[in-house]
Amino acid sequence: MCKPLKIIKRKNQKRIVCRVQEAKVIVSAPTMVSNQQIQDFLLIHKDWILQQLQKQPMIHHGDYFELFDISYQFDTNSLIPSGIYDHRVVAHTSLELKQILYDHFQKICQSRFNCIAHSLGFDDCDLKIKEYKSRWGSCKPKDKLITININLIFSNILCLDAVLYHEFAHLVVSDHSKKFYQILLTWCPDYRQIHAQLKNIVIPQFQF
Ligand SMILES: [Zn+2]
Repeated sequence: MCKPLKIIKRKNQKRIVCRVQEAKVIVSAPTMVSNQQIQDFLLIHKDWILQQLQKQPMIHHGDYFELFDISYQFDTNSLIPSGIYDHRVVAHTSLELKQILYDHFQKICQSRFNCIAHSLGFDDCDLKIKEYKSRWGSCKPKDKLITININLIFSNILCLDAVLYHEFAHLVVSDHSKKFYQILLTWCPDYRQIHAQLKNIVIPQFQF
């Protein structure tokens, strides 16, 4: 059984709660709960925890990972400047990697965004990219601004398009009503099947 890296005890907490974040197991529990009880809890939820950890694998130097379904080898040791070279991503620090992933995602996302915006007649919209923890995108119809989660870099172009169509549909209907889905499914008929893939997305964590 994997060891939790972090145990947080809280006075006001009523029960033990476990989450997996950035490849770490984090347990929060009421103050009264013993470490043995926490171990028992982790054992009962072992399958779920392992499943979550598989969704956030740790990538070390030399390991392979995928960006938009294309495989790259992670390289932290090369003396060449950081960047994407053929099927290799060279980065010496997490900051460098963040920039590389941002630039790569920005280029692809902006191009898909422009293409879809043009086809739907939304040429005056802006795109922003950020890392969301619990959503794939958002839309501010008033500002004509669509924000997309950079973690979609670990999915594929179909998923990226589906999220973009979803956010563009919010320019027409702000909620998730029947009318919203009618519009969305007209633009992206396979939306539900494609979006369902995002449940199984693997978001790697990189070790330097
Ligand atoms: Zn929505």
